[in-house]
Amino acid sequence: MTIPDRGTPKDQLFTQMERLRAGDGDAKGHRLFSLVYGARPDVLEVAEEAYRRFFSENGLNPMTFPSLRRFESDVLATTLSLLSAPAGAAGSMTSGGSESLLLAVKTARDWARVHRPGVRSPSMLLPVTAHPALHKAAHALDVRAVTVPVTTAFTADVEAARELADDDTILVVASAPQYPHGVLDPVAPLAELAAERGILCHVDACIGGFFLPWLEKLGTRLPPFDFRVPGVTSISADLHKYGYAAKGASTILYRTAALRRHQHFAYADWPGGLFVSPSMLGTRPGGAIAAAWAVMNYLGAEGYLDLTRRAMDATARIRREVESIAGLVVLGDPVMSILAVGAAPETVPLDLYVVADAMQERGWRIDRQQSPASLHFTVSPEHDAVVAHLVRDLRETTEAVRASGKTAEGMAAMYGMLGRLPDRAVVREALLDFMDGMDGSAS
Ligand SMILES: *Cc1c(COP(=O)(O)O)cnc(C)c1O
Repeated sequence: MTIPDRGTPKDQLFTQMERLRAGDGDAKGHRLFSLVYGARPDVLEVAEEAYRRFFSENGLNPMTFPSLRRFESDVLATTLSLLSAPAGAAGSMTSGGSESLLLAVKTARDWARVHRPGVRSPSMLLPVTAHPALHKAAHALDVRAVTVPVTTAFTADVEAARELADDDTILVVASAPQYPHGVLDPVAPLAELAAERGILCHVDACIGGFFLPWLEKLGTRLPPFDFRVPGVTSISADLHKYGYAAKGASTILYRTAALRRHQHFAYADWPGGLFVSPSMLGTRPGGAIAAAWAVMNYLGAEGYLDLTRRAMDATARIRREVESIAGLVVLGDPVMSILAVGAAPETVPLDLYVVADAMQERGWRIDRQQSPASLHFTVSPEHDAVVAHLVRDLRETTEAVRASGKTAEGMAAMYGMLGRLPDRAVVREALLDFMDGMDGSAS
């Protein structure tokens, strides 16, 4: 394939693009339970409009576009305050949770090079439920990931963490909440462990950072998870999840500007000029920064509180219904709008992957998790319109699978097989083969 000799007329082009979209997940109709965070059509409109207006601006150089600089500093000051940061705390906007986590690990590594010179082979403590982006960061930055087991409630096991910590440990990670089951790790005890050892503690609040504070303001009592916990040194919070911003927006926050300085990169010897950059990206889309600022100010506290209430109501309804369906249970004690639905302990437990396939046939996209097998729901405010339909389909498909004793085939069989294979290296190879098979090669 080559670039066409002649351009395509605009109308024809968009017709073709809309046609190609036919097989996509239903992002706006809310039949997806991951990847998309639906607030309200008017919120989406504000994000799109702000993005479009600042489409050409580049956040690479803060001096050229003072508007972007202002948006970014407002977004950061607001987020720092939302997460109870003390005076002197500082952060950066990034392209997403993965970049925020990469920077948190890089900062810890570079901080340790200065402040823990005895460390030969830096390592970090990572609950097994921590997001894979942290493993990706560890891999890229040559920091060893030491995995911490979780309790039967799926929260990080503090005693195990204590035993795994050693003189090479530079960072302890807690999630608020963790993604697979939506449960809160014991942030305070993990941060205390870090503080006792004089090392850093990162809280991955990528998904909870713009949700838990509002939930608290609505009256839910939660164990402290943010900068109120003395040993917490950094927090990541994604704007493009429950901040309802356009995709490509997250924050990484540090207790002190001195700590953030380890994140920054300066190069003084380039013939192209003096270079300094805060994050991993060079060019940064102005649209993502502008949209985050616009949505925050459009919604205000009132808007976020209302959306949080709606998402929680929808979650509570799903949870209640799931608990009344024979064969299904909610795993752990989820604190927010994330649910993992597992199979109830039975003589012949339900094959949830078969249920997921049956739900997919009815147009629902629900993520499949492993060890133990479960179905994952990230609930957005806009899901309130589909809850009744969702739970009816879930009840019917579950009952049908139980009645038929249907065994796994197709997707379900593949997930089951890959989940059970004891040799995880084989599974990793299969995943890499899958990636090779995706497009991106010369035709
Ligand atoms: C989404 C998520 C991430 C990764 O964020 P991206 O924006 O997808 O890169 C990391 N941690 C948690 C807990 C998340 O939910």
